Amino acid sequence: MVESLDEMLEDYLIGIEKPFESTHPGYSWASEAEKCSRSVGYRIAGEPVTNKLRLYSRWNFMQGNHLHEVIQKAAAKRYGRDIEFEVGWEMENISGRADAVTASSVWEIKTINVFGFKRAAYPARGRPASGPESSAIMQGFLAASALGKQTVKIILATKEPSKAKETVTAAWDFEWTDARRREVDAEVKRLQSIANLVRAGDLPKPVLHDGRLITDPASVNFPCGYCAYKEACISRGAS
Ligand code: SF4
Repeated sequence: MVESLDEMLEDYLIGIEKPFESTHPGYSWASEAEKCSRSVGYRIAGEPVTNKLRLYSRWNFMQGNHLHEVIQKAAAKRYGRDIEFEVGWEMENISGRADAVTASSVWEIKTINVFGFKRAAYPARGRPASGPESSAIMQGFLAASALGKQTVKIILATKEPSKAKETVTAAWDFEWTDARRREVDAEVKRLQSIANLVRAGDLPKPVLHDGRLITDPASVNFPCGYCAYKEACISRGAS
């Protein structure tokens, strides 16, 4: 008998983990849109993770995966052959997998805790609803660019339904604009340049997509607090 139920669950969850996004070695992933360049570099280089996932993260991912499937099954029932799911794509040095694709649109599904859901979907105390994270929108547009689609739908689904709010999902549709095209082109360039740098045997500096240098990788806050390469990065330093 297993001594701990948590241990039993962790063992099971590790066993059913799917490969994340792509089997193309040396590619950046669309889900790495706007992420710290160095963490993307470590992942492409196949560096062993120094900060392994804990059970609560795996549990969280499992809930997120389940909600993805529920939304995809509901959409399949409603739209039949007019929608496809888990559509893989690649552009030079970047690959991704769209949650759903219609004739004109890419759908990205993101699951979120109730606090984030309320903040994104509802205005409160004089502030407007914040909408989805820019990284989710960017991820959708990378797919739209590769698949030739005109719009991106971002769907947020709460993991903790609230009695006070009737809805459990919120969705936004975004279209291409000249400014959006420039932003997407810049992110494509950045992700490609990380992959090229790793191929040349180097690693990028710890910078965000907007060029901000991360000076404190030991921080417990986002993004470093959630980074799988935190210890390796701290030892390496900022250069
Ligand atoms: S610890 Fe922070 S700075 Fe270092 S790779 Fe991770 S996210 Fe980037």
